[in-house]
Amino acid sequence: MTWQTFVFIPIAALAFGYSGYRFKILFRMMKAHQGKAGDRLKDVPARISTFMANVLGQKAVLQKRAPGIMHFIIFWGFLIISVGTLEQFTTTIHQAANFEFIGDPAYRALMFLNDIMSLGVLLAIIYAAYRRFVLRPEGLGKSVDANIILAMTSSLMVSILLMNGFHILGVQPWFQDAMPISRAFSEVLAGLGLSQDTNAILGGIFKWIHMLIVLGFAVYIPSSKHLHLVAAGPNTYLRTLSREKGMTPINFEDETVTQYGAAKVTDLSWKDALDYYSCTECGRCQDLCPAHNTQKPLTPKMLIVDLKHNMYRNKANLLAGKHDEVSHIVDENVTEDVIWACTSCRACEIACPVFIEHTNKIYDIRRNLVMMESRFPTEVQSVFKNMETNASPWAFSSEDRAKWADGMSVKTMAEDQNIDVLLWVGCAGSYDERNMKVLRSFASLLKKAEIKFAILGKEEQCTGDPARRIGNEYLYQTLAKANIETLNRYNVKRIVTACPHCYNTLKNEYKEFGGNYDVFHHSQYIAKLIGEGRIKPTKSLDATVTFHDSCYLGRWNNIYGEPRSVIQALPAARMVEMSQNHDQAMCCGAGGGRMWMEETLGKRINVARTEQALATNAEVVASSCPFCMTMLSDGVTEKGMKDKVRVMDIAELVDQSTP
Ligand code: SF4
Ligand code: SF4
Repeated sequence: MTWQTFVFIPIAALAFGYSGYRFKILFRMMKAHQGKAGDRLKDVPARISTFMANVLGQKAVLQKRAPGIMHFIIFWGFLIISVGTLEQFTTTIHQAANFEFIGDPAYRALMFLNDIMSLGVLLAIIYAAYRRFVLRPEGLGKSVDANIILAMTSSLMVSILLMNGFHILGVQPWFQDAMPISRAFSEVLAGLGLSQDTNAILGGIFKWIHMLIVLGFAVYIPSSKHLHLVAAGPNTYLRTLSREKGMTPINFEDETVTQYGAAKVTDLSWKDALDYYSCTECGRCQDLCPAHNTQKPLTPKMLIVDLKHNMYRNKANLLAGKHDEVSHIVDENVTEDVIWACTSCRACEIACPVFIEHTNKIYDIRRNLVMMESRFPTEVQSVFKNMETNASPWAFSSEDRAKWADGMSVKTMAEDQNIDVLLWVGCAGSYDERNMKVLRSFASLLKKAEIKFAILGKEEQCTGDPARRIGNEYLYQTLAKANIETLNRYNVKRIVTACPHCYNTLKNEYKEFGGNYDVFHHSQYIAKLIGEGRIKPTKSLDATVTFHDSCYLGRWNNIYGEPRSVIQALPAARMVEMSQNHDQAMCCGAGGGRMWMEETLGKRINVARTEQALATNAEVVASSCPFCMTMLSDGVTEKGMKDKVRVMDIAELVDQSTP
């Protein structure tokens, strides 16, 4: 042991002790959350697999090529370099406690990797600085925290190279030929003409500088956005595994529950807190958010950051268990406009490299605003009322539900239960004139394919999707249970629907209440019928077609191929993709109950999406969702292109082409 031992041990103990104390506080704040996080441990093999792919393999990070490669190098570089740093710690405590015991080739390999990665990480950090200060992508924003980390990490790498360079000149270690970068660096340093002893001393000084920066890093991480270095791995392991996602139901029969939704951060779950800790503030969610991109006050990145700051502001109350004194979640940062701007498109969640779940938080806050405080956009009042009285967001009688099929001899389940599939019409297909035509085309196709089908007619009620997304869970459950009772009474096994919102609710959300059905979206069903040769589109379309991905079909249910395969089956249809397509597609603006709300802030989302469609010069904008149909049709009209561009459902295109 040397004097260095006695200096290093107390400094390291102080740094790690303080860091540990900070982590303990973060953990206690996480534990103070009272909401339910669901089962985050089941399906261990899938969790290990997602961890390997996305943490070790950095798969999600690499979705963005250049910054992804940069992050990959920094991630693996730091992992490898930390082994070398650990050796510096142990040799400072005891000179002989190096890692050479692993043997010559292994130790040389370790030194080689350390050496190469020091330069690799330095170059990656230079690129990060170039991106942050020169390219300045909007999503990154300005961050003092990020600048501090850039300065610290670049100093770490420079100190390693200087330490190794002087060390080679001063000590000439036996493994120096395994360190090509440091050797080249030492040749430059040799130009200083210093003595061997001076070089050895300088090597030691830079070793200390390096170690002190590492210890500073340990102290700084818990209070910086680089907390993600620790939190993102567990967050990835504990993520929601399936893209097909239903919302968590509320048990209204539980009399111990006196509050619904999230009024305070502590009403959210520990997983939500882990989400805040994991956020890298990369801005990828914001870049894809249709609300942000049309100048609404919502940005998913700032939502996470603001919730984290709300939690930090309430730290004392959280740690003291004073839940009642925690301030309200909706404040001057997370305003009501922020909460109502969300279309529930989940573009943010698809983009997030650390699997943060933004939408659950928004729904929970909406639930509280709606069910506990009756705070919601005034225009939604009539939607709730219609759903309560007419079982539809529109003010039409349920007696008129089957009017769309007048003259088509479509049977109801009450009339004929000997069917292949139940056609779930949905409210838009029942009452909206444009979408009634879509249903007629789809029913016509089913008849051409000789499929035995029936509808529920006046027994069908709204699935409850709009009520649920807006936050009225009670109304949703009332409608859902009534529908499930009807479907189960008729022993329905198989359902097809032309509405992705109905599809998602019937398939993913009704099972919570005993509704288990084999549900198809009509794009899947038509693709299947074409594949089986039961539908044969032969008439030429002779048009350029662009397809708009519905969020509830694509991002919510991972269905991208079938609607495209249907379009490609049309003779002389020429498909072109919009600039944003598949899981990067822009929302039409109707989801999350936005269909029923005024859009007074910023540019209209449907117009922005329509502009992307028009930029393809397609003659047909194909849709597979009644709400997208409405939004895109309005957009085309607003852009004055109604006479040149047709907005059509894929069922209409196939029906026209099928004799
Ligand atoms: S779900 Fe869509 S609208 Fe809502 S925050 Fe995420 S990206 Fe924005
Ligand atoms: S929520 Fe995810 S995508 Fe958005 S800034 Fe944070 S880490 Fe990036």
